[in-house]
Amino acid sequence: MASLPYLPFARPVLDEGAIAGVVEVLRSGWITTGPQVQKFEAALSDYLGRRPVRVLNSATAALEVALQLCGIGPGDEVITPSQTFFAAPNMIAKVGATPVFVDVDLFSRNLDFDAVERAITPRTKAIMPTHFAGLPVDMDRLYKIAEQHQLRVIEDAALAIGSSWRGQRIGSFGDLTVFSFHPNKNMTTIEGGALALPNEEDACEVEKLRFHGITRLPDGTRDVTFPGGKFNLPDVNARIGIGQLARLEEFNARRRELVSHYFQLLKTDPPCLLPHSGYSGDEAGHSWNLFAPLLPLERMSIDRKQFRAALDAHGIGSGISYEAAHLTTLFRRYGYCEGELPNTERIARETVTLPLFPTMRRADVERVCTAVGEVLLEAKI
Ligand SMILES: *Cc1c(COP(=O)(O)O)cnc(C)c1O
Repeated sequence: MASLPYLPFARPVLDEGAIAGVVEVLRSGWITTGPQVQKFEAALSDYLGRRPVRVLNSATAALEVALQLCGIGPGDEVITPSQTFFAAPNMIAKVGATPVFVDVDLFSRNLDFDAVERAITPRTKAIMPTHFAGLPVDMDRLYKIAEQHQLRVIEDAALAIGSSWRGQRIGSFGDLTVFSFHPNKNMTTIEGGALALPNEEDACEVEKLRFHGITRLPDGTRDVTFPGGKFNLPDVNARIGIGQLARLEEFNARRRELVSHYFQLLKTDPPCLLPHSGYSGDEAGHSWNLFAPLLPLERMSIDRKQFRAALDAHGIGSGISYEAAHLTTLFRRYGYCEGELPNTERIARETVTLPLFPTMRRADVERVCTAVGEVLLEAKI
C-alpha cells in the first residue's frame, strides 16, 4: 500500500512541448498579452465553429465581464443554480444584481427548467446555467425559455470545454459561453478563461472590459470611456493553452474511457447514486470533468469527512463539488435558508468527487473502486 503513489482527484497533463513552449515565450522578450494570445484566441474560435472568442485571466473574470457586457446591475435578477461553484453567484452579486437560485435535477445535477420558468419575474435579465461536470443542460429548452422571455444567457461552461449538444459544441452556438482553464479543468493555462461571443462588436467591447476600458484613438493616444478591469491573459499562459487545445479531444476521449471503467467497477454495498452517464445516443457530448457519485450517508455509520479521510488513508484524494451557494453566509443575507432547494442541499451533503484525469490508468480506477467499496462496506449499517 505504501508503495502506491498518492492519487489526487485532478491533475493537469503538461507535456514537454508545453514546457519548451513556455521557455520559448520567456526567452522571446514578450511575456504578457501579445501574439500568443492572438493565436490562442484564433485556435479557440476555430474549435468553436468560428465564433468570436476572447481570453481572460480566469472564468470568474469572464463571468463578470459577460454580466457587464449584458448591462446587468442593481435591480436586475439573474437565475442561476446554487449547485455550482461560488464564482457565478458571486459575480452576479458583485455587479449589484440579485442571484435567484433555482433547484437542480437530482440525477443530471443541472438546472430544473420548470423551476426556472416559475422563477422568472419582470426583473429577470438573464439565466446563468452551469453544465455540471461537463454534461450540457437541455440547450433546446434553455434557449426556448430565453427567447420566450427575452432573456440573455450566460452559460457557465467552466467544466464543459469539448462538450456538445446533439453534435454541436458547447460555445459554438447560443448567447455567451464562459470557459475555465484552471488546472482542474479539462484543459489548462494555469489560470485563465475564455468568453465565446455572438458577434465582433461584443468581442471589441470585451477587449475594453478586460483592459481598463481603454479605446485607442486615431492620433495614437488612448481614451477611457468607463472604468474597466484588468483581466488580460499573459502570453506565457496562452502558449500553454495552444498545446492543451490541440490535445483536448484526446484528453476528453480518455476521460470518457476512464468513466466507463468507473461505471463498470463502482458497485458498492450500500450503493452510491452514480452520476448521469450522458444523454442516450449523445454520450460523447459529455466531457467528464468530474466523476461525482452521491454517498449513501443514511446507510453509513461514518460521515463524509470520515469517508474522505479513510480514502485519503488509502492514498486517494477526493473533492466536494459543491457546497450549496445559497447556504453560504453571503447568500443567507439575501434571505435564503435550508429546505428551499432540496436536491441541491442533498447533493451538497452527499457528493464526493473521485479521481479522474487523462493520465490515470484502468488500474487506478480499480484501486479507487476497491477502496471505496471497502470503506463503505466497513461503515455499512
Ligand atoms: C472552476 C469553475 C469556475 C471558476 O473558474 P476560474 O477559472 O477558476 O475562475 C466557475 N464555474 C464553475 C462551474 C467552475 O467549475
